[in-house]
Amino acid sequence: MSTLLTLRNPATEAVIHEMPHATVDDVDAAIAKATAASPAWRKMAPVDRSRLLRRFADTVAAHADELAEIETRNMGMPIGNSRWCANMVADVLHYFSGAVEKHTGSSIPVAGGVDITFHEPLGVVGLITPWNFPMLMASWKVGPALAAGNTAVLKPAEITPLSSMRLAELALEAGIPDGVFNVVVGPGSTVGWRLVEHPDVRKVAFTGSTEVGKRLMKGCADQVKRLTLELGGKSANIVFADADIEKAAAAAPGAVFDNSGQDCCSRSRVLVQRSVFDRFMELFIDASKAWTVGDPMSPDTAMGPLVTAGHLAAVRQFSDGLETVYTGEVPTGPGYWHPVMIATPAYDAPVCHEEIFGPVVVVIPFDDEADAIRICNDSIYGLSGSVWTRDGSKALRVVRAMDSGTLSVNSNSSVRYSTPFGGFKQSGLGREHSMQVLDHYTELKNVFIATD
Ligand code: NAP
Ligand code: MG
Repeated sequence: MSTLLTLRNPATEAVIHEMPHATVDDVDAAIAKATAASPAWRKMAPVDRSRLLRRFADTVAAHADELAEIETRNMGMPIGNSRWCANMVADVLHYFSGAVEKHTGSSIPVAGGVDITFHEPLGVVGLITPWNFPMLMASWKVGPALAAGNTAVLKPAEITPLSSMRLAELALEAGIPDGVFNVVVGPGSTVGWRLVEHPDVRKVAFTGSTEVGKRLMKGCADQVKRLTLELGGKSANIVFADADIEKAAAAAPGAVFDNSGQDCCSRSRVLVQRSVFDRFMELFIDASKAWTVGDPMSPDTAMGPLVTAGHLAAVRQFSDGLETVYTGEVPTGPGYWHPVMIATPAYDAPVCHEEIFGPVVVVIPFDDEADAIRICNDSIYGLSGSVWTRDGSKALRVVRAMDSGTLSVNSNSSVRYSTPFGGFKQSGLGREHSMQVLDHYTELKNVFIATD
């Protein structure tokens, strides 16, 4: 039996790459390199660290088309989306290059002296990312980790490592010193877990499933290791009767079918006020017909395949036999295809409550504001969500009442690198993006200096 990691193009099932799995020894070697690189990186003049990160951003931007092709071949994301992601990676790195000199401490009035605070880098941080937005998730962690003065070992999902590997090469090309940003490609249970276990790794930043996140939390307890978690979701898209129904219905498919539904922020529960339910459904189904599934290398494709045969089987556990009000079409022949599906199942069906991570959406009617909030919050998750209404006060009341971390009003777009991102409840711990994330990549040190 081969011990090679074999990567397949999910649209063709053709083998695109083979490489050895990293071992625990390889992780230890990467941690040793990151440890050796740490003192110089943390002591580097902030302006120089900032400049190197900006050069990294520019290098990524110059290779955006190449990175996009790698991503599409490896995980099946439509090429237009992959290009958007590659440019976003550059923007994220650019943002954090500018943050290096702006994450400042403070002085606090005290008696008998002065009191000052410092944000100290942690040292070596372990970054573990999922397969759904491989290079984007990598940048969300590498950007702030390096900007804060840490060195990093990134473990991407083993099935989609190629764009992360290329990012590490581009970092070197841009002049980031060797050892500052390391990538190890191996299974989560051994290689990923080593980052949890290894005493020289001071923090783990994880994006992935709630199930694995819980395991990591237990693993980090032994060393009281710093941990941030971006986990699963079952986000609600709430449409009130007084909303612009046309606009809400036109936007709803993208909020759940984008990236084949393999999106933690997917608005996979659409909650619609009963008086406009039929009208909304008609428009929603109509708009969903544009979500044609096909070759992700074609610029006209709205939706590509699912990432692997295994993930396709997992999504089918929910969708096989599901009574739908609309099911789209899929190509024939090889590829891990799944159609878009809209269903209105009984509320106690598992599809209404569990994260599917595929292009399957449930639509649930509600009676009034209190009912909408109750249904929205009836979930172990609380990552994202939307509210559609023309009543500004109601919009504010409802978003304040939603147990979710990253919301939007009259839009389904809520994730930006300059604004905090993260989940309530079992959707996570800590926040990514914005200046706030730097607090999760540093320790706050307080010093009193006697002057009297
Ligand atoms: P996953 O199975 O939890 O895996 C995520 C990462 O953790 C992979 O790199 C995986 O490695 C690694 N891993 C698995 N077991 C591990 C262990 N015992 N110790 C250390 N690392 C381990 O998640 P996924 O299937 O890749 O991604 C889908 C999930 O991610 C969904 O639940 C989705 O909602 C969530 N997600 C959340 C966000 C967010 O920002 N909140 C964003 C995107 C995705 P291998 O796969 O290589 O074994
Ligand atoms: Mg998984």
